[in-house]
Amino acid sequence: MSLLLRNALLLDVASGDHTEGDLRCEDGRIVESGPGLKAPQDARGIDLRGAHVMPGLIDAHVHVTASTADLGSLPSMSPSYLAAHSARLMGQMLERGFTTVRDASGADYGLADAQAEGLIRGPRLLFCGVELFLRKDAFLVPTLVTYWALEEEGMAFGLPEASWRKVDEVLEAGFAALERAASAGVRLVYGSDLLGGMHRHQSEELRLRARVQSPKVLRAATVNAAELVGMAGSIGTLTVGAHADLLVLDGDPTRDIGALAKPKNLRYVVQSGEVVSASA
Ligand SMILES: [Zn+2]
Repeated sequence: MSLLLRNALLLDVASGDHTEGDLRCEDGRIVESGPGLKAPQDARGIDLRGAHVMPGLIDAHVHVTASTADLGSLPSMSPSYLAAHSARLMGQMLERGFTTVRDASGADYGLADAQAEGLIRGPRLLFCGVELFLRKDAFLVPTLVTYWALEEEGMAFGLPEASWRKVDEVLEAGFAALERAASAGVRLVYGSDLLGGMHRHQSEELRLRARVQSPKVLRAATVNAAELVGMAGSIGTLTVGAHADLLVLDGDPTRDIGALAKPKNLRYVVQSGEVVSASA
């Protein structure tokens, strides 16, 4: 099965440059890119008329089993019930443009296998083993959106008022730390770390970080994250040979992060060379 995207602006996230051209995907990989590509007979062709194409996003800190922020209640729930919740959360992540996520605790190979075999819709799921933790020293995965969400909605989710008053201070300290790390050249990776009903803010971390590190926030959620999980060159890039996980956007995410931070602005989400989500 071949997918040919024509007349796109292909974003090189490492340099921030766009190239006009076509991109062809086959058997789940990017196989060709350049001007005026020829499609095989059975190919699906889509004329993008100048829309932007970038690699699918990677979130390196999620908890797909955290269907509620009340983590203490999770062990008393049936594993099959929890799996159904996880499947729904993963499907929503995919619709936001996250084609790979790293679960920091909770998920296991059962969910990862179910996704890989196509039993559930969702991002490619990596779960933390010893190998990934060993690699993490050289990277920083801040998760400002957790505090932002607590500030916005913490009271409604049962956070005591005294704690809620401290959240703003923590968030400001988080911004300052991010700024220092960015100017010191630390490799920053995208993470959201949200729980329960706050999962829907997963893309807000893009907007928050753009205040400090725009447009490098795109690297944090693509090339840097790919390095962290040991998949550099294979995800988080549009290079030939990489997994064909990509996003088609109407706006330019290097100029306006809003083009990416609102799921309705994603024209298509492509996973393994197939359109898995399309906006109306
Ligand atoms: Zn966490």
